[in-house]
Amino acid sequence: MTRLLIMGPPGAGKGTQAQLVADYFGIPAISTGDIFRANASEQTPLGIEAQRYMDAGDYVPDEVTNNMVQDRLSQPDAGNGFLLDGYPRTLAQVEFLDSVLADQNASLEHVIELVVDEEEIVARLLKRAAEEGRTDDSEEVIRNRLHVYQEQTAPLTAVYAERGLLLRVDGLGHVEEVAARVENAITANS
Ligand code: ADP
Repeated sequence: MTRLLIMGPPGAGKGTQAQLVADYFGIPAISTGDIFRANASEQTPLGIEAQRYMDAGDYVPDEVTNNMVQDRLSQPDAGNGFLLDGYPRTLAQVEFLDSVLADQNASLEHVIELVVDEEEIVARLLKRAAEEGRTDDSEEVIRNRLHVYQEQTAPLTAVYAERGLLLRVDGLGHVEEVAARVENAITANS
């Protein structure tokens, strides 16, 4: 049973690493950003609500996000473990996830923090914006997302470090190189 979180600033390569690492351990990668984007493109009520926040680089309200994650984690494929990407992002989400897991007599095994320098991140996000046409990747919105991350999400790594769950991994390098670092860190600490 492997229950993992992956954290790191926007542009740290979380999505890519989440998929590789989840495949390696045979668990689903659950990305709140992907779920919001899929809902936005289908124009579901959830997607319409989320899009307003995403376009501004702000967080979707906790209640909306928490309900969505609770629902996703109750699906059968998450019963054998999961890797959450992009959640939790606020202290309220940390507490909510704690309570969802406690209800299942479950707990997190590791929290991976991808460490990447800020200059590198802005360059990566601008490149991705050009390639994918993401509406949340203009320079102004990128700066807001980094600011929101520093303010609200970076402190969460301290919470998980205190619990002895945090594994910090250098996020610079080729995709496969970084994935191997993550897999090794998890294996070495399991
Ligand atoms: P990135 O990692 O590049 O910031 P994501 O794909 O993880 O992008 O998320 C895109 C957007 O989706 C966020 O900027 C935010 O608006 C919304 N979002 C994703 N996860 C959460 C969350 N846990 N809480 C609130 N909003 C979220």
